[in-house]
Amino acid sequence: MPTDDSTLAAPEAYGPEIAGVLVSRAQIASRVCQLARGITEAYDGSEVTILGTLTGSLVFLSDLIRLLPLRVRLDLVRVRSYPDTATTPREPELLLAPASDLKGKHVLIVDDILDTGRTLEFLRAHASSSGAASVRTCVLLVKRRDDLPSRPATDFVGFDIDDHFVVGYGLDYGDLYRNLPDICLLARFAGGSGR
Ligand code: 5GP
Ligand code: MG
Repeated sequence: MPTDDSTLAAPEAYGPEIAGVLVSRAQIASRVCQLARGITEAYDGSEVTILGTLTGSLVFLSDLIRLLPLRVRLDLVRVRSYPDTATTPREPELLLAPASDLKGKHVLIVDDILDTGRTLEFLRAHASSSGAASVRTCVLLVKRRDDLPSRPATDFVGFDIDDHFVVGYGLDYGDLYRNLPDICLLARFAGGSGR
């Protein structure tokens, strides 16, 4: 992150609501470079249409796309996902559809975190039924969920993490904490996912 002053946004200044840093900004920066290298190789000079999910993937997305020496089209979608705690799991809903025509495009879906996998599966199905030539997925974080029998495969993954509720680097809790440069644990859920 381009900051000349290490006292700006230092983890010590996050306050008592943040229990600690799970993935540091340095670890993120290095992993995002590796992901970009993998994506660049996979597309091998082809044009790619990136479908980023609002709002959680925004920070990841902006770092990632600047490291891709490819012809990149950027489109944004918003999906309402229902939490695992909802009594009846519901299908995610598309609140903002892609603005562009995905027909014949090589689509890369970029999301912040994969938990149950429902959101990513829903978006993959949407892109496929819109006539995309190919659909791949990239998520910064995948939560370890031993209680789930199976989840959709992802093509590019930043970090596998334990089943904690995390915030920062785009991820929120009640619309807060997206601006934290590190991926952090919330004090209120420290030691668990909040499920
Ligand atoms: P899934 O559909 O895979 O169960 O859930 C994915 C969505 O749930 C993510 O895109 C994200 O918006 C939200 N989510 C899941 N786990 C977390 C978490 O630990 N922290 C935050 N901030 N959002 C989460
Ligand atoms: Mg999300």
